Amino acid sequence: MRIVVASGKGGTGKTTVATSLALVAAERETVRFIDCDVEAPNAGLFLDPAIEVRKDVGILIPQVDESACTFCGKCAEVCQFHAIAVIGVKTMVFPELCHGCGSCTLVCPEHAISEHLDVMGVLEGGAAAQQIDFARGVMNIGEPMAVPIIRELKKWAPAGHNEACAELRRTIEIRDAPPGASCPVVETLRGADYALLVTEPTPFGLHDLKQVVEVARDLGIPAGVIVNRDGIGDNAVEAFCIERDLPILMRIPMDRRIAEGIARGRPLVETRPELGQPFRAMLDRIVRQAV
Ligand code: SF4
Ligand code: SF4
Repeated sequence: MRIVVASGKGGTGKTTVATSLALVAAERETVRFIDCDVEAPNAGLFLDPAIEVRKDVGILIPQVDESACTFCGKCAEVCQFHAIAVIGVKTMVFPELCHGCGSCTLVCPEHAISEHLDVMGVLEGGAAAQQIDFARGVMNIGEPMAVPIIRELKKWAPAGHNEACAELRRTIEIRDAPPGASCPVVETLRGADYALLVTEPTPFGLHDLKQVVEVARDLGIPAGVIVNRDGIGDNAVEAFCIERDLPILMRIPMDRRIAEGIARGRPLVETRPELGQPFRAMLDRIVRQAV
């Protein structure tokens, strides 16, 4: 069961919700938590993982051996990103355009292309609070593409860093998505069983919720909504959810104690233990709805 916690915008409490959901789920299930917000991964502040395994991540960039190249142009023809070009007797690669698909290497009749890893970031894994199997991606500053890192992170299952988890069947995977509704969010949602969308009852919250709802619907993923900071703003989010047949699964009240707890890196269900039961009930409902 793979649940993605997403929100159309940053600062809605997405990571706060994702980490508390993981802690509640780990009371009775084996949980894998993946922080896919690779530009600013901060779920570790709440789950306190002991990072034990690291792996460089990036894309394979072609490298042309000009002594073997006949400048036939087949590599340039196959590249849909215009990342490789043959001009006269020179074959040039433009790494910033390359998506690492490997097509040029495959079609080269002279085997003149080799590949080298262009490191874009690192994957890190370890055991977190309550034996949660934790993994995150950390993108290097200035890198233009988060998607290849997220794609690798989803596939990555470092063995041995959490023996308790390794022995048990993984039952719940929780992915903390990047903010927004663009390619990194689409990649995080791809393959998920449920999208848990966190918003706030304001015009900004509604605007961004609409975008991420469309992404989830385009991907055919069932979705539900959490209203954070309930009590501020207006009823427009509620009206939208009714209109689009989106269940509101939980409301988290506007509360200064929650903000103070977050500032100290304390999980929501630790700051407000009475929210543990609504989180459990929500998880049960998601599992029922998604299976
Ligand atoms: S396909 Fe191979 S031989 Fe042809 S231009 Fe590209 S690198 Fe050179
Ligand atoms: S690996 Fe793919 S994207 Fe990169 S140059 Fe080759 S064909 Fe183009």
